[in-house]
Amino acid sequence: MYGLTEGAYIVATSLFIFALHWMNAPQTARRGVYAGVAGTALAIGVTWIQPGIVHHWWIIGAIVAGAIVGIPLAMVPLTAVPQRTALSHCFGGLAAGLVGTAEFYLWFFHEPHRLTTFHVSAIVCEIILGYLTFTGSLLAAGKLQEIKWIPQRPVTYAGQNLVNFVLLGTAVALAVAIAIHPTAAWAPYVFPVIIVLSLLFGILLIIPIGGADMPTVIAILNSYAGLAAVAMGFALDNKLLVTAGALDGSSGLILAIIMCKAMNRSFTNVLFGAFGQAKQATASGEEKVYKAETPEGAAQVLEQAESVVIIPGYGMAVAQAQHKVRELYDQLKKRGVSVRFAIHPVAGRMPGHMNVLLAEADIPYDALVEMEEINPDMPQVDVALVVGANDVVNPAARTDPGGPIYGMPIIDADKARTVLAIKRSKNPGFAGIDNELYFSDRTWMLFGDAKGVIGDLVKQLSGDSAGG
Ligand code: NDP
Repeated sequence: MYGLTEGAYIVATSLFIFALHWMNAPQTARRGVYAGVAGTALAIGVTWIQPGIVHHWWIIGAIVAGAIVGIPLAMVPLTAVPQRTALSHCFGGLAAGLVGTAEFYLWFFHEPHRLTTFHVSAIVCEIILGYLTFTGSLLAAGKLQEIKWIPQRPVTYAGQNLVNFVLLGTAVALAVAIAIHPTAAWAPYVFPVIIVLSLLFGILLIIPIGGADMPTVIAILNSYAGLAAVAMGFALDNKLLVTAGALDGSSGLILAIIMCKAMNRSFTNVLFGAFGQAKQATASGEEKVYKAETPEGAAQVLEQAESVVIIPGYGMAVAQAQHKVRELYDQLKKRGVSVRFAIHPVAGRMPGHMNVLLAEADIPYDALVEMEEINPDMPQVDVALVVGANDVVNPAARTDPGGPIYGMPIIDADKARTVLAIKRSKNPGFAGIDNELYFSDRTWMLFGDAKGVIGDLVKQLSGDSAGG
């Protein structure tokens, strides 16, 4: 049985590694998902047939309960995936925390010889990381879901970082004390204090973070959940939990680093910088003026262009306009116009959001160009067509040092010869700030739902506007 289990764990680990590798490219991503599911199924199956497992109905009950929660969670629209991901991390953290708590009390009262310093060190790491991931992720999910009673903007106060540091420091000091004296009579009373401090720390860690930093924070919480699983693996002597947790932890960390780079931020600045702080627009007294364009006029501009760059953003996802965008792409290609899509790494509400939507509409991968590659070409581009994007094309990222998105690299839509921008209203984007691009001399606004406006453009271009 030992050989079978270890062999199956190695196969499961390999499947997880391949899953991550295949997820790197849209062409192989589906295979990556299947490999991940197969690895998980194998790991559960092999663990389940261990002779030590006797309460099978509990396991069946847990699988049913997991499915009841998991299936509806998998059905959420793509725009809600970040908060769904945060919820998954929250459950992962809670599971690690609860397992660690059960292990400690079970061993304390029934098998105290198992409470070695090594095991208890692993358990306390598991519960600190697990419980702080639980509350931190829950709050992050609530912020992203824009739940009314959860403040979306960063909540800051004097000495905040010191308070957080003292809180975590106290939890760690108590954890060290328990690891040194695991069987002391006071240990079962101190253990819940560590839990409460960790739960509190998770909340306090997230409240000063807001706006555009939430995606990065979710990736960091992903890595905490992975590390909690590693600690659980050490506590339970389970190698698969160690390797799977390490993969989860490191991939979350790498994603967070990539996103920090995309927003030109440092890690410490994300965690302690209270990014996204609400900055009330200073009333200048003068109302800025937008220039509105009609679909007919915009279609003419597009028709006469030699090169068009489409810049999709969150609004394209909300409107589900990707299929109409594909029709527009086809119409323009038919006229010999060069059409490319400029992909910002944090456009939309999750990494790769635009790639997924455009792939769903069968837009060729080679028409998708990364921000760094397209920006040098932008001054030669005839038309930049902004489809429901805002922050990722906001020049304030370059010009407003006090602004919440300052330093974030953007797609240089403002450098194109003409800008056509589709959005429904004069409302700002995710970071809550105005966008000078929309007031520029070269910009014409097409107000309306992205799907409807692009549909109108397609009708104009296909000569179908009269017949509908
Ligand atoms: P933004 O949220 O900045 O702007 C989206 C724009 O789309 C809004 O101004 C909105 O204007 C418009 N819009 C919304 N619905 C529609 C619709 N149906 N039709 C037409 N327009 C619509 O999105 P961006 O993609 O530019 O930037 C992403 C932002 O989200 C960044 O700040 C990023 O940091 C953050 N973020 C990114 C994540 C990621 O991993 N990608 C995750 C979480 C946050 P109006 O209401 O007037 O229509």
